[in-house]
Amino acid sequence: MTSSKDLRIAIVGGGIVGVACAVRLQRAGLKVDLFESASKFGEVGAGVGFGPNAIRALKGLGVYDAMMARTGEELNMEPFQYISEQEGHELVYDQPIGSGDVDVGMTIHRAVFLDAVVGLLDAERTHFSKRLDRITQSEELGHTVSTLHFQDGTTFEADVVIGADGIRSATRVAVAEHSTRATWSNTVAYRGLIPSEHIREVNLKTDLFRGKPTNILGDNRHLIIFPVSNNEIVNVVIFCTDRSKPAGSVDVPVQDWTIPVEKQEIFDAFKGCGSDVHKIISLLKDPRRWAIHLLDPTLSSFVRDNIALVGDAAHGMCPHLGSGAGQGFEDALVICELLLDPRTNVSNVQDVFKAYDEIRRPRANKVLKASTAAGDLYETWRDVPIDELKTRLHDMWGWIWYHDLQGDILSTERSLEERGVWRASESV
Ligand SMILES: Cc1cc2nc3c(=O)[nH]c(=O)nc-3n(C[C@H](O)[C@H](O)[C@H](O)COP(=O)(O)OP(=O)(O)OC[C@H]3O[C@@H](n4cnc5c(N)ncnc54)[C@H](O)[C@@H]3O)c2cc1C
Repeated sequence: MTSSKDLRIAIVGGGIVGVACAVRLQRAGLKVDLFESASKFGEVGAGVGFGPNAIRALKGLGVYDAMMARTGEELNMEPFQYISEQEGHELVYDQPIGSGDVDVGMTIHRAVFLDAVVGLLDAERTHFSKRLDRITQSEELGHTVSTLHFQDGTTFEADVVIGADGIRSATRVAVAEHSTRATWSNTVAYRGLIPSEHIREVNLKTDLFRGKPTNILGDNRHLIIFPVSNNEIVNVVIFCTDRSKPAGSVDVPVQDWTIPVEKQEIFDAFKGCGSDVHKIISLLKDPRRWAIHLLDPTLSSFVRDNIALVGDAAHGMCPHLGSGAGQGFEDALVICELLLDPRTNVSNVQDVFKAYDEIRRPRANKVLKASTAAGDLYETWRDVPIDELKTRLHDMWGWIWYHDLQGDILSTERSLEERGVWRASESV
């Protein structure tokens, strides 16, 4: 009888989610090939925040220790402080830390994270300059085989395909029934990394170094700011939204998703805001504008046959709850645990993937929708009575951060046994 160790697994996309997935499966002895379209691994020059749920998933995936060793830091991210953009920069809400260290996450430079995790990969099974074009399927000895066709004309046959190829996923075309083009959220983001000494020199009223990320709330605009790299660099993301048209009604050509802009464009967008915001904008170097996209409508399935989507390929979302990668790591942990069980094999992997979809899709799509709503709250906060605002800001995080993912995995395993997909007697 075959087991999961016999599966030929292809992962498409070597972003942070695909790499984490590959590391977990390869280190457990599964045959996993990773295909990345770029000629080498790379991340944007920006920071990323991982909430406590993401941290737990990274531990489960076996990449947490490498990440922490690479940074040389302790977990460093407590809940947000919310500040008004108006002069004086009044503290609107200071979210307290909960019980013990349970609220603590990690802010990290993206390139540092990727570098730490990539070091754990099997280099011989990592293939660069392999842009997936399409997937075809055939039946062989009673099970489905997927053939990956790459743009360079080469192909690869796999029993299992994990699509981790981001919001513009080519794998998704093989999974989704309806059109799944990412839509523009009407929000743009300007991102930058500023040396902390430059921030300190301009004497902001807002303390950006008190161990909490900062959200500066404005009208149709807001800023997310947190230090990374042992407080040596400050990550800044500046958001502006055009609410004059319905979200999704304007298309941004792909070549314009990320473009360099003059700093004046950002100053113009932040007319009337307080001095801290002006000082931060003036410190940005070579700003670029990112059109923030999301999957709307959400997918009605993350899987088809022996193909499953993880990360942004499945649920690209607005970044307003800092949870896109975290949800991707949750996907990765669940799908890896199910694939690692020796009772998963070529004959039942499609049913195993259906179970993955059933447990992951509702939660990830809920986070996706809540992320859009969070951005709306940050940018229309003045319309909300202050006590209600504080409650809503407070309550946004708990259900994401304290979710029992291990419980999800256990209940999925039980359901696979109850449905007879896995036979309990085969358990090892
Ligand atoms: C401004 C901003 C701030 C954010 N902040 C946070 C945050 O603080 N916390 C958080 O959790 N999330 C955050 N996110 C979201 C997070 O960045 C994403 O959810 C995460 O990077 C998705 O990872 P991924 O591996 O799924 O996709 P990606 O990082 O997009 O990786 C996809 C990979 O697939 C490759 N690829 C693409 N197409 C193909 C193809 N056809 N064939 C082969 N390879 C292909 C790409 O080259 C890439 O390497 C933020 C997003 C933005 C825009």
